[in-house]
Amino acid sequence: MMEYPLTLKNLLERNRLLFAKKEVFSRLHTKDFRYTYGDYQKRVRQLANVLKELGVGPGDRVGTLAWNNHRHLELYFAIPCTGAVMHTLNLRLFPEQLIYVINHAEDKVIFVDVDLLPLLEGISGQLKTVRHYVIMTDEDKLPDTRLPSVHSYEELLKGAPETYDFPDLDEWSPAAMCYTTATTGNPKGVVYTHRGLFLHSMACASADMMGLREEDVVMPVVPMFHANAWGSPFVAVWVGSKLVLPGRRLDPKSLLELIEQERVTVSLGVPTIWMGLLQVLESGAKYDLSSVRCFIVGGSAAPEIMIKTFKEKYGLHIQHAYGMTETTPLVTLTRIKSYLKDLPADQYYRLAAKQGVIAPGLEMKVVDDSGREVPWDGKTMGELCLRGPWIAREYYKEPERSAEAIKDGWLHTGDIVTVDEEGYILIMDRAKDLVKSGGEWISSVDLENTIMAHPAVAEATVIGIPHEKWQERPLACVVLKDAYKGKVSKEEILDFLRDKVAKWWLPDDVIFMEAIPKTSVGKFNKKQLRQMYAEGKLTAQ
Ligand code: ADP
Repeated sequence: MMEYPLTLKNLLERNRLLFAKKEVFSRLHTKDFRYTYGDYQKRVRQLANVLKELGVGPGDRVGTLAWNNHRHLELYFAIPCTGAVMHTLNLRLFPEQLIYVINHAEDKVIFVDVDLLPLLEGISGQLKTVRHYVIMTDEDKLPDTRLPSVHSYEELLKGAPETYDFPDLDEWSPAAMCYTTATTGNPKGVVYTHRGLFLHSMACASADMMGLREEDVVMPVVPMFHANAWGSPFVAVWVGSKLVLPGRRLDPKSLLELIEQERVTVSLGVPTIWMGLLQVLESGAKYDLSSVRCFIVGGSAAPEIMIKTFKEKYGLHIQHAYGMTETTPLVTLTRIKSYLKDLPADQYYRLAAKQGVIAPGLEMKVVDDSGREVPWDGKTMGELCLRGPWIAREYYKEPERSAEAIKDGWLHTGDIVTVDEEGYILIMDRAKDLVKSGGEWISSVDLENTIMAHPAVAEATVIGIPHEKWQERPLACVVLKDAYKGKVSKEEILDFLRDKVAKWWLPDDVIFMEAIPKTSVGKFNKKQLRQMYAEGKLTAQ
């Protein structure tokens, strides 16, 4: 066979040759915008020329601080295909974290959406390597800004040629990078190679994984700054799916309107997004969602009750996936095997709520504390370890932390799982979130899913709190649906759990809250809850 480099150029070129007529929809700050992949291709080339003009060379890091929109999609290909490295910046990081990641990656240029300018204005004095800021406005005119060396994206593109000879890169060259928020210490950088992204995209496109195809209308709600929106922009461009980029308006009603208006077939997001949509539907609002083939949910555990309600009441299919920044991210996805499709409903939904089976191309093992593999019995817990062509082999410029996580060629995920006889993994917890009670482990994820099955509960999360005798005990934080606020007691929640979980799993307390704090990528922020508890601030609101 030929020695053929697996690079993003192949994805971009296939799109150019085959899908010039297909559409991209982009929700901007001031208006909705649409164009074709034909126009997209021209602008990607103009952008490549602009990068050259700005002095960006092979291997240079270029930051993006942007929502899901067409300009971000242009950067997704223009930066890596010229040989530079796209560093997606998480717009929900604290200022000191943003300063850290930009300096650590040594970003040379930053492209920023106009409404996110204030995030940079406050910190630009501390950014040591940035030479240019390119502001992505809908108008040519630049806003007043304190940033030095600013340019207008649209102005720069206007003057740039529409042709560009993309180089043939080595498949091992870095294409993109993303920092993951660590529990302690600074964020850790993961570098994605062209080869990794290419093979990940193939796996995502394959029928038993995301199965994205030309006829799909794909709407990534998961931010393009979070693990490459789970690879969906790369795959959509490659296979020619229409993309619907929802911008910054991510409230359930705006998303439901967009699904209806653009006839979205596949959308991707974290569970809180879909739980929000479900609440709106449950309130009786009517939308035509008949175009939807599936909602892909990942990033944290999808509650079984949510999957079941979507399916049984609204005929909507939820596809559960699991991954992490270090794994590009897709690792597993739950497709129910053909001979399991007729399982009784309760078993079917229990399976659908598992995280799924390993993607073709990856290898996994689940090990106990002594490094021995645990049996696939659906009961024994162990840490999930991974290896494969899209699994990180190190953290960027962090030899010590790399050595802690990647041992003997395996990434130790820190996720505690069981695997059943059919090979479906179930994430019990992140190792640090497990509640360790009297030498036994309580899965906080399992408990919260059970609580969320209570009809009055909108959201629930469980943390371990220190206990003199048992070391730790579970504490449940619960948000009630509007109609039930003030009408449900602690005891009712505990009674509901009594015949569903072991007695010693019952939370010691239930705290009703207005909202559960979320992380920068929309997950329940258990670290913050534990801290609030320690400071005596976790009380009913
Ligand atoms: P961050 O570390 O900033 O939260 P990541 O996306 O890298 O961002 O987080 C990856 C982690 O999220 C995984 O290690 C796992 O604990 C959790 N996770 C991802 N998908 C799922 C899922 N489907 N079910 C349960 N947990 C998940």
